[in-house]
Amino acid sequence: MSKRILVIGAGFAGMWSALAAARLLDQVGRSDVEIALIAPVPELHVRPRLYEHDPEAMKVPLLDIFAATGVRFIQGMVETIDVEKQEVGIIGLGADTALRSLGYDRLVLAAGSRLNRPPIPGLHDHTFNVDQIDEAVRLNAHLRSLKERPASARRNTVVVAGAGFTGIETASEMPARLRGILGEDAEVNVVMVERNGEVGPDLGPGPRPLIVQALGEMGITWKLGSGVSAVDADGVRLENGERIEADTVIWTAGARASGLTAQIPGERDAYGRLHVDRSLAVKGVPNVFASGDCAYAATDDEGNHATMSCQHAMNLGRASGHNAAADVVGQERLPYSQPDYVTCVDLGPWGAVYTEGWEREVKLSGALGKAKKTVINTDWIYPPKSLDRSEILAQSDPARIVVA
Ligand SMILES: Cc1cc2nc3c(=O)[nH]c(=O)nc-3n(C[C@H](O)[C@H](O)[C@H](O)COP(=O)(O)OP(=O)(O)OC[C@H]3O[C@@H](n4cnc5c(N)ncnc54)[C@H](O)[C@@H]3O)c2cc1C
Repeated sequence: MSKRILVIGAGFAGMWSALAAARLLDQVGRSDVEIALIAPVPELHVRPRLYEHDPEAMKVPLLDIFAATGVRFIQGMVETIDVEKQEVGIIGLGADTALRSLGYDRLVLAAGSRLNRPPIPGLHDHTFNVDQIDEAVRLNAHLRSLKERPASARRNTVVVAGAGFTGIETASEMPARLRGILGEDAEVNVVMVERNGEVGPDLGPGPRPLIVQALGEMGITWKLGSGVSAVDADGVRLENGERIEADTVIWTAGARASGLTAQIPGERDAYGRLHVDRSLAVKGVPNVFASGDCAYAATDDEGNHATMSCQHAMNLGRASGHNAAADVVGQERLPYSQPDYVTCVDLGPWGAVYTEGWEREVKLSGALGKAKKTVINTDWIYPPKSLDRSEILAQSDPARIVVA
């Protein structure tokens, strides 16, 4: 019977895992190993762009790329993982709801992450978010519908809960988006609420002064040191008792790895990511690799670890797929290594701030930063554009580190 490498997820990590596995099998001339990838849809969803104005456009079809490289696509959702039996339980979509099982010789768990939704009263019913395409589309429809409502300060106010990377990028889009809907003269009010004492608590002191300057110039305000304690249809209450009336509340505060990580009996970090060794194998669990937002992986020997980012997910993907295939064909695994690290924070019409290194030293800002962000968001993070098999496989080389 032929062997099977099973990849869960068609995101940045899953797609590149499957392609990197195909590359290695191609190199060693093995056509008897199946690479199967399971996901709800054969599309890469470009999550880093979901704060932009056209979220529906942020998907890229993958079937042709998979066909060109011999990756079998299985449409469905993995519900269960049994590491003893080495099989997963899948339910199909639509009418096909029967649970069926599929065995694996090597598993790559690349099911990504979801927005963290703590049990704050009203959060589920009264907030929007930009975590997944359908949710960003729902926010878009809501923003467009605001013009049907009577003008009021509450209608024109957007609260962005969380002033981290996603909160800052989302807030920066809002003034122009709201004016595009409500009229160029509309008085709009965009407020970020952050429990920590700083804007961009994880971004550090390097880029913060420029970010604060940009937000100020765009008229965005923020309230620090007190988180959201309750949300209702008319606004939010903060932990310090303060009330903000708003027709739109966008929750951006934090991500958690896929719940599937809890079915793997390995150690997990505070975000639910599985601890992996340098080859991205889950520590202590035979034949299972974790990748992308599901993996807590060292990027170097200096103590740095991958962030939940497509910058890391793409390269984790290439390495995990390569190593899963290396195991099956009896080759040495490669250690994952990604010492270079950058961030590029989109600040709407003001531009962007681009930093390099884990200390986040600012290298570009304003229009130059924006030009870099545009290249990252429209080119670097996209799947291969060519359907030429050898070109796709060349791009899937784990030695080809993309620093986006
Ligand atoms: C608004 C926003 C802005 C961001 N900005 C940036 C940025 O500027 N730079 C950056 O580097 N990163 C950014 N990120 C983070 C980045 O999008 C993620 O880190 C990245 O998508 C992780 O890739 P992944 O492949 O691990 O997971 P995902 O992209 O989440 O893909 C997961 C895949 O698994 C599938 N899946 C999930 N559950 C199952 C299941 N049970 N069975 C089968 N398939 C399943 C999903 O359908 C999907 O195909 C941003 C994210 C958001 C939401």
